[in-house]
Amino acid sequence: MAPDAPTLRTTSVWFAAVSEQSAPAVELRGVVKTFGDVTAVAGVDLVIADGEFFSLLGPSGCGKTTLLRMIAGLEFPTEGSIRIHGAEMGLRPPDRRPVNTVFQSYALFPHMTVAENVAFGLRMRKVARDEIDDRVARAIGLVQLGGMESRRPSQLSGGQQQRVALARALVNEPEVLLLDEPLGALDLKLRQQMQFELKDLQERVGITFVYVTHDQEEALTMSDRIAVMDAGRFLQVDGPETLYERPANRFVAGFVGDTNFLDAVVVDDGRVRLGNGREVAVVTTSDPGTPVVLALRPEKVFLETTPEEGTERVPGVVRQSRYLGDHFFYEVSIEGVGSIHVWAQNEPTFERYVAGDEVIVTWRPSAVVALED
Ligand code: ATP
Repeated sequence: MAPDAPTLRTTSVWFAAVSEQSAPAVELRGVVKTFGDVTAVAGVDLVIADGEFFSLLGPSGCGKTTLLRMIAGLEFPTEGSIRIHGAEMGLRPPDRRPVNTVFQSYALFPHMTVAENVAFGLRMRKVARDEIDDRVARAIGLVQLGGMESRRPSQLSGGQQQRVALARALVNEPEVLLLDEPLGALDLKLRQQMQFELKDLQERVGITFVYVTHDQEEALTMSDRIAVMDAGRFLQVDGPETLYERPANRFVAGFVGDTNFLDAVVVDDGRVRLGNGREVAVVTTSDPGTPVVLALRPEKVFLETTPEEGTERVPGVVRQSRYLGDHFFYEVSIEGVGSIHVWAQNEPTFERYVAGDEVIVTWRPSAVVALED
């Protein structure tokens, strides 16, 4: 956002009540949701801190939207409890919860101006005209749409329309803002720009965001913490760096970023044996004899031609070589192990390989995560 964007100072009055709350923003205890035979959410416990940008990340059908809708009051749990700033939500309807939801389809009123769209909810609640004007102006300033108050949605770009939808939610001064794939309808470049704007906005207003996405890059870019979901359960809840560098299991390693998986068996503390009998160094606490899968990111693997001996130097043959602008992609087969993907940054001293080249595949032991499942 522009450097002259409104700061927390100008909005602190709005959100002072939120920051004084001591209870967590959102607390889920044993939340289950079934639709007939389908278990959409299979028992989830979660505490989201005040002011956190928290994302629910997972593949289609994993239950993330259902979980968000239960926080919003658009669905009710089959079992368990949901608290917002300590207050049990029970069967409270959406309009009696201190939350607002922003959806992918922003559904603005086409015949109303930007300012009228943003003011609509406050008008319905019969808020005084002066207060409406003041709050609408601040919300429009927050999303950087100053000067566009009189335009209609058809005169705005997709990104600007999504900002109106955000302003329409923020103007209600929610304690928690729920966002369900809000950038899904935007093209890639605009989506990436909006990711930075949203994070910046969230930091300035200081309210809790709960964000649903199936896009791992989006979640990594914006979130303080991320819950990776599959089949209605949380598989790991951690900050972006921990999720990426230390995934807890194979699903998370494969879903967040690209990963090579190599089957191995633990030899002793610090060494595993690959399928071709070669022993390599890794950090593992698993017992000797335990089958593990090694997760190794493509950008943490290097190719060389110097045939030095060493624990994590494995001979291979380049099968595919592709130029992708900022990096090269290689598929390298390792006898008795399988093929692995390697990304090499396109920097000036880089040595280029072609299909058929014999190479040494190397990595640092600390780059490998040994997983038992
Ligand atoms: P997507 O990214 O595709 O929106 P999601 O992770 O948000 O997926 P949910 O929409 O929460 O997943 O759905 C979880 C599961 O619950 C799915 O199997 C879905 O078909 C089912 N489901 C969701 N809502 C209903 C409903 N109203 N009636 C029956 N089944 C439902």
